[in-house]
Amino acid sequence: MHRLTALTAFLTSLAATATAQQTPASIDTLALRAHTYFLSHDLLAGRGTGTRGGRVASLYLATAAARIGLTGAIAGGFYQDVPLEAATLDTVATTLTLTARGPSGESRAVFHAPAEFLPNAGTAATLVSFAGSVVYLGSASDVLAHADRLPPLAGRVALMAGTLGGFAAAADTLRAHGATGILQGVATASQYDLFVASRGLTRMYARSEDTATSFAASLPAVLVHPDVVRRLIAGADTFRVQVTESLATRTLPARNVVALVRGSDPALRGEVVVFSAHYDHLGFSTPDASGDSIYNGFSDNAAGSAMLLAIAQVVAASPPPRSVLFLWTTGEEMGLLGSDWFVAHPAVPLDSIVAVINLDAGAPPGLVVTWNVQGGVHSSLGPTAAEVAHRHGWEVHLQPATPNSDHYPFHRAGIPTAFLVPAPAPYEGMTTEASRALQRHWDHYHQPADEWRGDFPFAGLARYAGFALELALEVARGPRPAMTR
Ligand SMILES: [Zn+2]
Repeated sequence: MHRLTALTAFLTSLAATATAQQTPASIDTLALRAHTYFLSHDLLAGRGTGTRGGRVASLYLATAAARIGLTGAIAGGFYQDVPLEAATLDTVATTLTLTARGPSGESRAVFHAPAEFLPNAGTAATLVSFAGSVVYLGSASDVLAHADRLPPLAGRVALMAGTLGGFAAAADTLRAHGATGILQGVATASQYDLFVASRGLTRMYARSEDTATSFAASLPAVLVHPDVVRRLIAGADTFRVQVTESLATRTLPARNVVALVRGSDPALRGEVVVFSAHYDHLGFSTPDASGDSIYNGFSDNAAGSAMLLAIAQVVAASPPPRSVLFLWTTGEEMGLLGSDWFVAHPAVPLDSIVAVINLDAGAPPGLVVTWNVQGGVHSSLGPTAAEVAHRHGWEVHLQPATPNSDHYPFHRAGIPTAFLVPAPAPYEGMTTEASRALQRHWDHYHQPADEWRGDFPFAGLARYAGFALELALEVARGPRPAMTR
């Protein structure tokens, strides 16, 4: 080693020590490494919902939780069964047919799944065939903004720009106006291909009717390739569309993992702070260019699952006055299935839950100093998160809750929620450009390359977990958060 290199290495190790001191000392970074390593291992085959790999992941979480002193929160056990139905598309019988009547007679075009269109998340009631004349309505936010000025929709099919995203309520509006279904025009071919590759041909939903669906639209909805969208827009108002869906269903034994640390104060331990993170992922799906077909979900969401265990380790060692419940959900990727189920069948009374902190935003490869707190605008939990962040000199943006992760069903039930998300801003000590390059290097959202690597820097994940821990402890001993809007 050159002397200069040795000096650099020494200085780097000093810097690393300084960085480590800024991260809450209580988060065990080695535990984060070990848990993410196991959970995202190829042997778990991408932890598909209701598969053996997913079940092994739940066994690991329950075992690790017991090892650090947590107790099962479901009649003394750790598992909450979430009975699901899995519906797999018959790609031959599932078609989208356009019929246009022009001066020269009738023309027909038939499109096929999944290359040209793809049924989106749904339930037994919405994974069905639908038909009607096509009407173009713009984006989901347009629909909500102009709900009073929509054209007649009874018996018609709504063509929309983009997916529903945070505007799921647009489907309810269209349904109320009598629309029969939604064609969601995906903006780019690469986005469309990502949907097809990562979602595959199987849709899942709860088998019980008493479970609300927070993610799936209340109308049949299909994703449409941009090439087909262009044709549709050119001829909207003259086209009639028939979407024929054929699916084969089977039951699937999925489960949530639910563990508890009882509060230290007998007067407050009946109130509960909930941590949520989904532990299963996409399983096997379309191979990438290298031939890898295992969607390991290291960042999404082995990272969040590991954070819950690392946080639980600290909480169990010194319980705060209120109880803390750790909920590892199943089926988030399939449409918030485990969290919807938990809210419909809660392990503790819903009105005893004082706050929900959700972790599902991936593993930041740098030290985050700017956070988005999704759901933070609706309750005093948001300002409390901001206070905690400000102590460290971090910045916080409070945002509305949207149905993009497991906090949302709790939000719908009127419970204060915070989904902590690293903002797309420079990491500590880095330029915008360098931070973006680092993000690009590590971000493989919903791809087989989202997998464990030995050189991943875990300091950012430790800080993320530390922030969540500090917020939870604040809430578990401070005033009960209140909904504000
Ligand atoms: Zn996720």
